[in-house]
Amino acid sequence: MPTVPAALSVDFEFFQHAPAYRTAAGTADRSALGLDGVETILDAFAAADATGTFFTVSDITASHPGLVERVADAGHEVASHTHSHRHLPDLTRAKRREELRGSRRRLEATADADVTGFRAPSFDIAGDHFELLDETGYGYDSSVVPCRSIPGWYGGEFDTWRPSPATAVDPSAPAGLAEVPVAAMPGLRLPLTGTWIRFFGVRYTLAGMYWLARRGVAPVLYVHPWELVNLPEIRGVPERIYVRSGAYMRRAVERILATPFEFVPVRTLAEGVGEGDAGAGR
Ligand SMILES: [Zn+2]
Repeated sequence: MPTVPAALSVDFEFFQHAPAYRTAAGTADRSALGLDGVETILDAFAAADATGTFFTVSDITASHPGLVERVADAGHEVASHTHSHRHLPDLTRAKRREELRGSRRRLEATADADVTGFRAPSFDIAGDHFELLDETGYGYDSSVVPCRSIPGWYGGEFDTWRPSPATAVDPSAPAGLAEVPVAAMPGLRLPLTGTWIRFFGVRYTLAGMYWLARRGVAPVLYVHPWELVNLPEIRGVPERIYVRSGAYMRRAVERILATPFEFVPVRTLAEGVGEGDAGAGR
């Protein structure tokens, strides 16, 4: 296989930010659950001599600024995953704008680097998303998954499989903004990572990566640091969250990074848009 780029992105949030925790709010006896998972991921990237993108919830810059600095110092891209991890379509336009603008400003100050990428919590975006991203200084979005519609799981139904101008997703999107969609399994149309790597096993993810690569699509994967830690039993958290989290996921990340793909930051894939490979289709 020729060297094909891929991206392993990290949705850098603590378990307390995750929607799965909403029904259990206040019942965990530790804060910052998932912290150890960040260390594990940084070590795995270093061991594989790979770099990635950390879509970071910017309130972590207040509680754990040193950790965000370490991510940037290790050569990884710091991008935004909002300030508070609230569901964007639930917010007013002014609040959405503040989540975008405020998170970018805080992350840039802490990481001492430009922040140009964005990923929405639960991959759910509002109708004015690209307009607001442009207004608040972003260059690319990575909130679209070309997967089947599962109510309450992912935003809408999309059919954009490779990095494209954002107009491929929303014809009214401002020019110059790129979309880097997250990888899904062709045919099955479920994401290659997230819950699905834990349900179907890492071989499902690896098979999907090779399938996409044969079609010339760089796979964009995502993991959460809290998936890599041994989560304590928390009342009210759905059982599916505990399926294969911890040791299985730590090994899965190592196996993904051991594939012959060249792991690059998502921004690198976004920068390729407009250089002749801007096709929106599969
Ligand atoms: Zn998230």
